[in-house]
Amino acid sequence: MGNVTLKRVTKEYDDVTAVKDMNLDIQDGEFVCLVGPSGCGKSTTMETIAGLTLPTGGEVTIGGKDVTNLPPKDRGIAMVFQNIALFPHMDVYDNVSFGLRLRNFEKEEIDRRVERAADILQIGDLLDRKPSELSGGQRQRVAIGRAIVRDPEAFLMDEPLANLDAKLRVHMRTELQRLHKELGTTIIYVTHDQAEAMTMSDRIAVLNDGRLQQIAPPLTCYNEPANQFVAGFIGSPSMNFIEGEITERGFTSEFVSVEFDPTDFGVSVGSAVTLGVRPEDVYLTDQTIGVDHPTTQIDTTTDVMEPMGDEIFVYLAHGDRKTTSMKEGPQKSDQLLMSVDPDIDISEEEHVEVFFDRSNLHLFDQNTSEAICHSLVSPPAKSTLGERATTED
Ligand code: ADP
Repeated sequence: MGNVTLKRVTKEYDDVTAVKDMNLDIQDGEFVCLVGPSGCGKSTTMETIAGLTLPTGGEVTIGGKDVTNLPPKDRGIAMVFQNIALFPHMDVYDNVSFGLRLRNFEKEEIDRRVERAADILQIGDLLDRKPSELSGGQRQRVAIGRAIVRDPEAFLMDEPLANLDAKLRVHMRTELQRLHKELGTTIIYVTHDQAEAMTMSDRIAVLNDGRLQQIAPPLTCYNEPANQFVAGFIGSPSMNFIEGEITERGFTSEFVSVEFDPTDFGVSVGSAVTLGVRPEDVYLTDQTIGVDHPTTQIDTTTDVMEPMGDEIFVYLAHGDRKTTSMKEGPQKSDQLLMSVDPDIDISEEEHVEVFFDRSNLHLFDQNTSEAICHSLVSPPAKSTLGERATTED
């Protein structure tokens, strides 16, 4: 059984806490991505599961067995890394079977396993080639083949596609999903790319500063982020955040107000909150069709526009203010990013009125950054908050 659990795992280096109180419960056969910005502790978490580094606190189990202090070879896992270390002087067959030969497997069993892996990965006709005669994608498949033949309880993959070009990366994502379906083996996959995590995994574990922020299916992280960090990290371009406060009439900021009864949402008058709205949930006033719960209109001026082909990103300034171009999404409370259809007639420095859909508005507590709700339709629907991180401060 390939279920993997981390119980309050902490890893401290001299003056850095790379991972803090991490609790993870990964089911047998699950595909889980560990995702987060550089330095958030993804690789360290993976290395503690692999046994490449020992945690300073906590416990790791694989298949119900405590492996916290076992060496990597005794954990029943197989690893695939970003840097594919194939032996250049060996052909594909020898590279794939290397680990089995080292463990003195019978020739027949080795042949059987290599053949099966080659079948799954469609590298059967490459078995007598040397790594230098393979493309990047083929080399990566060979590296995965080497992991498959070990028949592990779980695959640990640390940014395995990072060195491939964009097109091949997208192709290999599909291949990995197919592979997962075929093998049904647990995959734990590290990536800093939220799009990669969104497209492949059963659940995403979002990390920041060595702590687990949320572990939930991709769409739950997207639609019901547990806190402002997850809301900003998942989704591209990033969610708009507007700082304001709660009054008796609802949410108020310098430019935006949304009316609701605070008692319906359990927020107290006077509390400092941040309103979150995704760029695709900002609408022009003539787009009201299909929006059941529009907010009142907001006065804006268009600034920079970025045509993407299938959509246009339009940066908006409230009133007559100017924004600056913000590739990473809007940063300040008086800036908004909207995504519109490419056939909408809109130009720069145009006065436009926009509105939001209340059913897609998020509220975050400014003190804790925790999500308060994911809809401002009154009365609120029963809370459907995703599974929260169980880490403690
Ligand atoms: P990620 O994989 O998310 O980029 P890492 O797990 O590699 O992050 O690193 C988490 C933090 O731990 C970073 O601040 C990093 O500098 C630190 N760190 C990682 N490995 C070591 C080490 N061997 N010695 C000291 N600090 C380390």
